[in-house]
Amino acid sequence: MKGSFKLGQIRGVNVFLHWTFLLLAGWLLLAYLRYGAEPGQLAWTIMFILAFCVCVLLHEAGHAITAARFGIHARNIVLLPIGGIASIEKFPANPFQELMISLAGPVANLLIALLLWLPVSPHTSFWKVPGDLVTTLPWQASLYLLRIANIGLALFNLIPAFPMDGGRILRALLAFRLNYVRATTVAAATSKVVAIMLIAGGILMLNAAMAIIGIFIVLSADSEEYYLRLRSLVQGLKLNDVLIYDFTSLQAGMTVQQVSGTLANNHSKYFILMADTVPIGSVNRLEIVKALAEMRYSQPLRELLKEEIESLDGSQDVQNVLEKLARDEERIYPVTEHGRFAGIVSLDHIIEYLLLHRSDSKDFDRLKSLVGLMH
Ligand SMILES: [Zn+2]
Repeated sequence: MKGSFKLGQIRGVNVFLHWTFLLLAGWLLLAYLRYGAEPGQLAWTIMFILAFCVCVLLHEAGHAITAARFGIHARNIVLLPIGGIASIEKFPANPFQELMISLAGPVANLLIALLLWLPVSPHTSFWKVPGDLVTTLPWQASLYLLRIANIGLALFNLIPAFPMDGGRILRALLAFRLNYVRATTVAAATSKVVAIMLIAGGILMLNAAMAIIGIFIVLSADSEEYYLRLRSLVQGLKLNDVLIYDFTSLQAGMTVQQVSGTLANNHSKYFILMADTVPIGSVNRLEIVKALAEMRYSQPLRELLKEEIESLDGSQDVQNVLEKLARDEERIYPVTEHGRFAGIVSLDHIIEYLLLHRSDSKDFDRLKSLVGLMH
């Protein structure tokens, strides 16, 4: 990341410090000096800054360690005053993994806050200032501030908007129900609403920090949007370019019994159902096997179809039908060329095409991240 310098390496993970951290340190020190702080208090402030740095590192370590449990390794950690970034080598394979990885950071800060409170001042309130901040012992004040800083860090990162952890948590929760692309779209839209609310709130309440967070979200909203990324990558591609011609079609009127022979020799995951020369949809191999296992031998394949799908015209841009394809990642669409059924397409096919055909482009790193979208 630009503007950061390497602090060192922990278990193969490079740890960087972003320059904004120094800005925060400078600002805190200046504030102390202005109020005529004594050398002792100054020392405590420096220790507070260092301790806060460690808390941010532990937040990122939470993400990295959880990711490692799922076999995803972190390469770099950048420490920022607002939480930092742990760049992991690939996107989580499923919503549960993303949920766990994203939650781990804020949870780490909440645990630290709890640990800072329990042994030191169990009889005081979790939230209350220990007496008067100015007159209390500096170590007590520092511990209190560190506790609040950790709670702030956790709450800030739980804001349900990209690029915060909260945005990813929201997407993961949505992805239990929707497919990943759709979940991202919804979460990104939510991010924008949250950002507008923060900016408006910041202006109305004359709260600069709130407005700045809002602007920050707006500026970085796109960075997490795989879907938008995908949209830009398929720019200029026609459906004809990504068509798959290698598929097996079956007549919709055939019975389950009649196609059992085909199933034995053909290991396709799905079959295209035809009503004469017109494709009407696809049926999963498993559906047919299930029908056979349940001895529904005379059932026509048409009855296994969830719903009929209309063909897409091959001459249109992939971008125009991306949303449609993303609605159900397993859905396979028939595509026509000059009015005749020519091939099939699905979201997976398009991602696969991009991975295979753009491997020499400088976008390949961005492309690789799309593997997370494949099912
Ligand atoms: Zn985080």
